[in-house]
Amino acid sequence: MRIVFLGPPGAGKGTQAEILSKEKKLQHISSGNLLRDAVENGTETGLKAKQYIEKGQLVPDQIVVDIIRDRILDKDCRNGFLLDGFPRTLAQAKALDEMLKKLGNKLDIVFYFVVSKESIVLRLSGRRICSACGANYHTKFVPSVKDGICDKCGGKLYQRADDKLETVQERIRIYHEQTEDLIEYYKKNGILKEIESETDIKTITKKIFNVIKDASQNEPLINFGVA
Ligand code: ADP
Ligand code: ADP
Ligand code: ZN
Repeated sequence: MRIVFLGPPGAGKGTQAEILSKEKKLQHISSGNLLRDAVENGTETGLKAKQYIEKGQLVPDQIVVDIIRDRILDKDCRNGFLLDGFPRTLAQAKALDEMLKKLGNKLDIVFYFVVSKESIVLRLSGRRICSACGANYHTKFVPSVKDGICDKCGGKLYQRADDKLETVQERIRIYHEQTEDLIEYYKKNGILKEIESETDIKTITKKIFNVIKDASQNEPLINFGVA
């Protein structure tokens, strides 16, 4: 299966992507993680992307499309992947369609996470990440046992610089300005599935699994094409 997670920052895309990718053996491709890795490694791409990420703005399409193309062409993505945070503009969505067409494939489902602005702000302001293993926590909703310490590996938890309130406001603005159009685009394609995401993590996971169960029962043959 080839799946996209669409929705505002902080909606819970990364959290659900972790669960689903493990369960369904899909590669979890997070554009944000790929970009942050590039920044950390000081690559040419990372140097270009850094200034945009810091301001909460979108990294130029060409840079992101190139990173995603490279990743999708990896062998481990042959049998399916889950894109989290990409595409975010119409140009990216069209580039993705082209890429998949060349590979004899197409997207199966786009999940659209519907959540209020109040929840977005609450979720982002409490988000904490493990500096060692990347695990995702929330000070209130998904707290670690020991304050500031990862349950899984003992690493130190930190807050992403772009999760500070000022940048969060800018990211929400950019989402409405540049990403929301994709909802119509995928609705027209007939592959958009809205997931009401105001509830707890488990309930959302169940909803996603139900949609996938129904979809895979009548999966068209093309999905087994070579990639
Ligand atoms: P995104 O990838 O969409 O930006 P995340 O998955 O990183 O969002 O979630 C943002 C924050 O909210 C994280 O700290 C996560 O632990 C928390 N979170 C995720 N889903 C929920 C939920 N359904 N209810 C409450 N908190 C959540
Ligand atoms: P969130 O889901 O919490 O908004 P991400 O980790 O997906 O955060 O993205 C963090 C930042 O990385 C974005 O604010 C943006 O600067 C950059 N970024 C990630 N994905 C894309 C994309 N598809 N196009 C452009 N910029 C992106
Ligand atoms: Zn950890």
